Amino acid sequence: MTSHQGRLSRDVVESLTLDTEPWLSCEECFDLMDSYAEAVVAGTEPRRRHDMEVHLRACPACFQEVESLVALLQQDSAD
Ligand SMILES: [Zn+2]
Repeated sequence: MTSHQGRLSRDVVESLTLDTEPWLSCEECFDLMDSYAEAVVAGTEPRRRHDMEVHLRACPACFQEVESLVALLQQDSAD
């Protein structure tokens, strides 16, 4: 189990150092959020998808916003 934990934390460190390069600010994230959520719900490719996903992985606040946006849009399209 200890070797498994060691591998996990190394992966986390690697993904952190790799992923901080094209860093979006929360402001930029908020600007892209609507179209990102719409694209996710529509099943199309979101604009700046990679940048958004990097930010959302590191920012629980924005992640929650996107989650509730997606849930809202899914409710709308279900009506
Ligand atoms: Zn954020």
